[in-house]
Amino acid sequence: MDPKDLQPESLAAQSLGWVDPVTKAISPPIHASTTFIRDADNQYRSGRGYARADNPAFDQAEALIAQLEHGAQGALFASGMAAATAVFQSLAPGDHVLAPKVMYWSLRNWLMNFATAWGLKVELVDMTDPAAVHTALRPGQTRLVWIETPANPLWTITDIAATAALAHGAGARVAVDSTVATPVLTRPLELGADIVMHAATKYLNGHSDLIAGVLVTRTDDDFWKRIKTVRAQLGGTLGSFESWLLLRGMRTLYLRVRAASASAQRIAEHFAGHRHVEAVLYPGLREAPGYAVAARQMQGGFGGMLSLRVKGGASGGETAAIATAAHVQLWKRATSLGGTESLIEHRASVEGAGTPAPPDLLRLSVGIEHVDDLIADLEQALARAHG
Ligand SMILES: *Cc1c(COP(=O)(O)O)cnc(C)c1O
Repeated sequence: MDPKDLQPESLAAQSLGWVDPVTKAISPPIHASTTFIRDADNQYRSGRGYARADNPAFDQAEALIAQLEHGAQGALFASGMAAATAVFQSLAPGDHVLAPKVMYWSLRNWLMNFATAWGLKVELVDMTDPAAVHTALRPGQTRLVWIETPANPLWTITDIAATAALAHGAGARVAVDSTVATPVLTRPLELGADIVMHAATKYLNGHSDLIAGVLVTRTDDDFWKRIKTVRAQLGGTLGSFESWLLLRGMRTLYLRVRAASASAQRIAEHFAGHRHVEAVLYPGLREAPGYAVAARQMQGGFGGMLSLRVKGGASGGETAAIATAAHVQLWKRATSLGGTESLIEHRASVEGAGTPAPPDLLRLSVGIEHVDDLIADLEQALARAHG
């Protein structure tokens, strides 16, 4: 069967059906070589010279993620941050870029502290409001609009199609951090985005044992070539073993993301209106501000990430939230997301001054444990925190 006729679940489960032509192995070898033979006539017909620029260990993972995102090409990076910053570093000093006020904290910090020092004019906007984006765009000067949806840690939703239309009208490219949605739930390139970014550390790998990032482009254009040059020259390349692990993790991507999404929906519905919970932030709740857009651009679920704002009584919501995290037994108190195990964290403690995370907010990454166990553990932790 032509891979083009297969469903993405089938492509992921078999890593595109690749079989080693020499050994007939169905799991690929790990290519560790840093260097490649030059032809006797001084050419590099294999297309490979040195593994900082490119590595056969990337081929299958890059091809698979490109196919799942319906893009032209993928590129692996040493981390999600290396992937994201490569996009900004492919711009020129003086370029104006728009980024969301609510976004992944480390990237926001880098944009405000380093990208600006390098000459990018970074403007933070309410990316959930197309009118605000329209006002902020400077035709001919804005070169990139960065979207994250659902966005850390409030799980706000940006309308990718509407924002991309506005950005393109002003001559700007659109990149989407789709780490939380994954290609299982959203395909930003089909909605008009030019580049998709993933912290592959999270759902794509899915086992909390690997730091990696990936970009996928809609077209193999000059900007993409600059991004590949940034990767090769700044050296944010992924290792061979990590590339192999990522490919293995992606075999179960569809099962994991669907299970986590279904459980997150159950948990969100269970704790909405709970006596110890001020608010549940989850785009899959009908009352969520982003519900209508999310229902349109996410298929088959709203993702495995949600936040609970904990009621505090006399001692305040922050104390109660930290106490709730202290009392969980099954959930693991840790940062990160997208693994098989469920994680809980007091987000304001992680982000510090200037965070948009309210002090009473607990960020939850739902794993693939039984949802009844997850709910029971949160129930007892909330009860003890409100002792
Ligand atoms: C984790 C994460 C990143 C950064 O990825 P790293 O692999 O940790 O560098 C970027 N965006 C989002 C949404 C993330 O969750």
